[in-house]
Amino acid sequence: MTDQNPADRWRAESERLEHLTFAHEIARAEAVAQWAVQTFSDELVLTASFQDAVMVNLLRSVKPDIEVVFLDTQYSFPETIAYRNELTQRLHLNVRVVEPDVPRGEQFLLDVGTTGCCNARKVQPLQKVLTGKAAWLSGIRRVETPERANTPLVAWDPKRELVKVSPLATWTDEDVVQYQTEHDLPAHPLTVPHPETGLVYSSIGCQPCTLPFKQGDDPRNSRWNGEKTECGLHV
Ligand code: SF4
Repeated sequence: MTDQNPADRWRAESERLEHLTFAHEIARAEAVAQWAVQTFSDELVLTASFQDAVMVNLLRSVKPDIEVVFLDTQYSFPETIAYRNELTQRLHLNVRVVEPDVPRGEQFLLDVGTTGCCNARKVQPLQKVLTGKAAWLSGIRRVETPERANTPLVAWDPKRELVKVSPLATWTDEDVVQYQTEHDLPAHPLTVPHPETGLVYSSIGCQPCTLPFKQGDDPRNSRWNGEKTECGLHV
């Protein structure tokens, strides 16, 4: 239908969606999710880390039976697994758990380091899930890290050769809270201060690589001890 190269084509689509006028960024995200489902149908992959319930609720409101892929690194907090199970039941989610093809246990992490471990437990399993698909839906937001500050709503991923759609790209932290409140969605238990210890997490990843948030900390340092801010999924 077009002889535009894929990067230009999807950049133009992203700009079109970004320039649409909505009363709130939440409405824009719903429109982007709707557009993605209509455009890519079964060739669309939704992944969720279950740090919160926003993306899964947004997408299931558009396509109730959409498959939600959970990349199980085998190092998730038990609270994350419990939260995933609670949301699955409560929202009737169609979750597929994808496990890595490497040994369980922390020795692997010690042996290969965080780059090798993230690659084996996240990047490679994701690649298998995305192979043969046309588009990937991710919940990343511009405010999360400096590396994500220019995240487009829609972009061609030349490395994976598919379209990446980020409906929440324009959201602030307040938008997330507003959406969760409006939809009566539970928060991940670790993002709420523990009643006895007061411990709270600003970002939830794998247990060995995630630290609780302390007043005055840069929230980005809570993952990998500040050694890096991306695991390699969002390149
Ligand atoms: S976040 Fe840590 S435990 Fe999880 S895959 Fe990466 S290095 Fe391994």
